[in-house]
Amino acid sequence: MMKSTHIKLSKNALQSNWDFLREYFNDTKISAVVKGNAYGHGIEEYVAMAEDCGVNHFSVFNAEEAVRVQKTVSSATTIMIMGAIEDSDLEWAIANDIEFYVFNMERLTAAIKAAKQVGKKALVHIEIETGMYRTGFEPAMITQLADVFKANTDTLIFKGLCMHFAGAESITNYFRVKKQKINFKRAIKQFKNAGIKPQMIHTCCSAAAVRLTDMHYDMIRIGIMQYGFWPSPEILIEYLNKYKTVKSPLRRIISWESKVMSLKTVPPGEFIGYGSSYFAHQEIEVAVVPVGYAHGFSRSLSNTGHVLINKMRAPVVGTVNMNCVIADVTNIPKVEINDKVTLIGEQGNQEITVASFGELSSQLNYELLTRLPMDIPRFVV
Ligand SMILES: *Cc1c(COP(=O)(O)O)cnc(C)c1O
Repeated sequence: MMKSTHIKLSKNALQSNWDFLREYFNDTKISAVVKGNAYGHGIEEYVAMAEDCGVNHFSVFNAEEAVRVQKTVSSATTIMIMGAIEDSDLEWAIANDIEFYVFNMERLTAAIKAAKQVGKKALVHIEIETGMYRTGFEPAMITQLADVFKANTDTLIFKGLCMHFAGAESITNYFRVKKQKINFKRAIKQFKNAGIKPQMIHTCCSAAAVRLTDMHYDMIRIGIMQYGFWPSPEILIEYLNKYKTVKSPLRRIISWESKVMSLKTVPPGEFIGYGSSYFAHQEIEVAVVPVGYAHGFSRSLSNTGHVLINKMRAPVVGTVNMNCVIADVTNIPKVEINDKVTLIGEQGNQEITVASFGELSSQLNYELLTRLPMDIPRFVV
């Protein structure tokens, strides 16, 4: 059955983003962060495209996402879980060479037990608390951790030492981030003094990778930038100033489309849609599009958002409904039922960006993208 809305993913744009990222980060190894259903792009569709672009390391939040990536990629590709995994899934992870973060003794103990059960070593990334206060071992635990690793060389591989920055995309966090750097560098020394060495060190998300070039180490974990967005306007402006350019080198991969479902002429003096938020002062033509807040088209775009029809902008009139939105097409010639409607993307020289969409509805790029429902079909073009 055809769905009333779909998402298109541009492989050209993705290749161009990866070419840029590799060059810009001097060929530092990059893990593609594909949590949140690949930031709404669709794990299966996105990961397959990214692998074609040469990506061979993917980071996810949980074991469910890891399964979805694993079903899509070749066996030579690395999968790393940065967050949730149940103890009961550790054996599966170890048996399948899925790497995972460990940020407390409970999980480390469970990993040792699971590795014994499977007869294979667990590939663990030790996350250190440096000041984000989300997950991570306190640095005071490092000696004890070293002892555990030394006593369990038959079950544990110290694959990685890592941390996460608490807001590198905003200069308001400058001192906090700086303190995190100092704490992390101290932790590296403490591990060295304790006599154990990780195979790799990684700390940077997109914003940190742009801003803290001395923290790249062996790998960076890039999420938002691979999808063509900057972590914040501040980071984009910093890039543009530094390279004396006015155009972002990153390209949006996603576009979101639907079709005109119904057309209607509204006489002057009538309200449109639920309630009385839009009053027709004159006769207007409206198009009904079968996409609403249930699809991730935020209700706060009521009377403020736009869609594109026949290469022109059509303002949203009235409130966004659960499954439809009404657009004013009075000034757009020859609109017909089934005409293409663009919710995110380009038509002619008009564009609706994810950012504009986000600003109007005060959702971040990150949030808006990841709220696009899983059941909207994704197509690679
Ligand atoms: C989400 C996430 C990233 C990627 O962040 P971006 O800002 O999208 O690049 C990196 N590391 C961790 C631990 C994350 O949770």
